[in-house]
Amino acid sequence: MSTWNRRHWIALAGGMAAGLHPGCRSKETAVKKAVAIGEYEPKSMLHVPETKVLRSRFPVIDVHTHLTFSPGLGKTGDNIDTVPPEEVLPVMDRKNIRTMVNLTGGRGAALENTIARWQKAHPGRFLTFVEPSYGKSGEPGYPRFQADEIEKAHNAGAKGLKVTKALGLVLRENLTSGRLIRIDDPRFDPMWEVCGALKMPVGIHTSDPEAFFLPIDRFNERYEELNAHPDWSFHGQDYPSNMQLQEARLRVIARHPKTQFLCLHVANAEDLGLVSQWMDRHANMLVEIGARIGELGRQPRAARKFFDRYQDRILFGTDAIPKGDETPQQVFGDALDEIYFRFLETEDEYFDYAPARKPPQGRWRISGLGLTEAILKKVYNANAEREMR
Ligand SMILES: [Zn+2]
Repeated sequence: MSTWNRRHWIALAGGMAAGLHPGCRSKETAVKKAVAIGEYEPKSMLHVPETKVLRSRFPVIDVHTHLTFSPGLGKTGDNIDTVPPEEVLPVMDRKNIRTMVNLTGGRGAALENTIARWQKAHPGRFLTFVEPSYGKSGEPGYPRFQADEIEKAHNAGAKGLKVTKALGLVLRENLTSGRLIRIDDPRFDPMWEVCGALKMPVGIHTSDPEAFFLPIDRFNERYEELNAHPDWSFHGQDYPSNMQLQEARLRVIARHPKTQFLCLHVANAEDLGLVSQWMDRHANMLVEIGARIGELGRQPRAARKFFDRYQDRILFGTDAIPKGDETPQQVFGDALDEIYFRFLETEDEYFDYAPARKPPQGRWRISGLGLTEAILKKVYNANAEREMR
């Protein structure tokens, strides 16, 4: 029976039933008008345990946070603090977060000021990463200059290098025009190499969720998010595919075996099988989980196996930004940390991955992994401690 016929038949049968039992609700009152997708907020009717994890089982090093922002591509000037350190520290103390790593520490004098305001003013609580000077990436002496800048940053106290998804998706030959510069462009080789020599891990975000490379239509699992932020889409134009970006990063990882590459957002969280193959092939590849518990927690059995297998190479991160409401899955605070702890520590089922009225990165909920204490210790702090000595 076709869908229309079936519906028609059900409607007729309903009418007949209503006719037989005059007290029944009529078809008119039973069918309400359609709910717009954005207004749909179903409440789960599952009665399942809800574990409140107010503090992490072990002290945490959150390796993926954005406490400051540097001026845009090619611009100079000081970094902007999202909030002062004094607003962040009480939350850290409540949640058992020993250290936050600020990945967007900028470069040059701005980086040094940021290190002074955060890292030096509060020893042990904040660490800072340096970012590349893309403004000079088109100049002839850039490869050497960039490597020297990393060394200066290291001497100033920077603990690692952060490379955003701008490499591969935004940065072009003339900064904002011309062809996109590839992640494995040889001009960056001295930069990757010096990080290895100085034992500075490279926190690298490449590509984006797979859905961001697909049309924004009714088949897209992140339709609502992309519909609200069409500029987050990398579908069409001259953008490389997710796999082209991933493969370019893998070539970099292969070419610099002495450099530790911390692939942010689980590298490609929708495909843990593929990430596993990459990690088996490249001993210098690590991953971080920030803003991807929504992906890990909707495949909890595969994720649990992934944590068992790569327990020495997974680092805790949240991608936290202390202010803002555009991305609730990243807003720093008690609620966000408690969700991460619940996900890693408990076997609770079917709960929200973000502190928001509606799941912001796709309409699903997650289940916890219930990791062992030995694995929790590594993921919460020991792995990060080893990499950022
Ligand atoms: Zn981030």
